[in-house]
Amino acid sequence: MAHPPALAGLLKQLARLPGVGPRSAQRVALALLAAPQKMAELASSLQHAQADLGSCATCGNIAARTEAEACVCEICADPRRDPYVLCVVESVADIWALEKGGHFKGRYHVLGGVVSALQGVGPDDLSLGLLEHRLRTATPEFAEIILALGASLEGQTTSHLVASLVQRAAPNALLSTLAKGMPVGASVDYLDEGTLGLALTYRQRL
Ligand SMILES: [Zn+2]
Repeated sequence: MAHPPALAGLLKQLARLPGVGPRSAQRVALALLAAPQKMAELASSLQHAQADLGSCATCGNIAARTEAEACVCEICADPRRDPYVLCVVESVADIWALEKGGHFKGRYHVLGGVVSALQGVGPDDLSLGLLEHRLRTATPEFAEIILALGASLEGQTTSHLVASLVQRAAPNALLSTLAKGMPVGASVDYLDEGTLGLALTYRQRL
């Protein structure tokens, strides 16, 4: 059965979104068509997001566009954030995850991905140049750089890349990475072999 072109277009656009397959696209399209008000609100939100949001010129976080030429995100603009500690993450979603816990009070740098031969992502696709410039020009200098990249092969490869950049651009800074091992609340027999192995390797003295 052929859909009217407007519906076919809607389904196609929805199905292209991450995590949305053809079936979910159908459900979303039907729900929107049944509630025109919701559809109008969604359209308006999309337009506002496109017009009013940009990328922070310092760290790559999402930031509100202002009259000023360069966007600055709320974290970079917040004088209460520790200027000595920088946490390097893959994506803005990682900032959200870290901020939810509220344990980290420093600054961030968003790489915009991790190197992956499979996905065709190379070092030039990441914001490494911006990071190097930031490390070389930061006043005060960063005292610690935390690499908070994933434990996947791609995350680890990227960590090595960033580590050597940090050693060049900020040789005095302490380099650290997130601990590997037991998730909070997990029982030992629940862990996969890789995680359990790392938890053993990085065991702590009591
Ligand atoms: Zn920022």
